Amino acid sequence: MNYVALDVDAMNDDCGAADDFSPSAAQNQAPAKAHVPQDVQDAIRTLLRWAGENPAREGLIDTPARVGRAWREYCAGYAEDPAIHLRRTFSEVAGYDEVVLLRGIPFQSHCEHHLAPITGTASIAYLPRNRVVGISKLARVLQGFARRLQIQERLTSEVAQCIWDHLQPQGVAVVIEAQHGCMTGRGVMTPGVTMVTSRMLGCFLDDPGSRKEVLALMGLG
Ligand SMILES: [Zn+2]
Repeated sequence: MNYVALDVDAMNDDCGAADDFSPSAAQNQAPAKAHVPQDVQDAIRTLLRWAGENPAREGLIDTPARVGRAWREYCAGYAEDPAIHLRRTFSEVAGYDEVVLLRGIPFQSHCEHHLAPITGTASIAYLPRNRVVGISKLARVLQGFARRLQIQERLTSEVAQCIWDHLQPQGVAVVIEAQHGCMTGRGVMTPGVTMVTSRMLGCFLDDPGSRKEVLALMGLG
């Protein structure tokens, strides 16, 4: 698989009328915005027209390019191998052999069925086998998989499997709780409803006591 570097510029690409009138843009200090190919912009114009809009009106003139750049950011995970964050491990753990848990990591992803946002939090735990990883790396693994088109079930298992394969711990537990834009903003219209998925591997799968302990640490016991 090839991993390509993305030229994503979010700095001056937010919503808001002042977008192109920020001081840095006026002084030409902002980095060049990533090029969005014409066919991509045409596709977004087609979608705007189909949704009932007039893509030629003033407020929508730059929208196709903005949407194109935004989607490169939403899907930046395709350009990285999340396992890379688990390469550097530490074996000096002073005999620590208990659960390591990162709780309530916020993330955003997009569902592959509607391209709608999935917004939620993840708790990621592992029981080390002689070596640990920098704690922020667990969040980076999550973001690497979240910044792709997903379903929540696959996101949960990909994060767990990546840690299992590359850290080779005694156990991995991943619990994700998220709201799905395709359910809260359309369809059955149920704002506030969250979906919970979990993936347990190793001791957390095999040993009910360990599973109970890790779920309690996650605040789910
Ligand atoms: Zn969906």
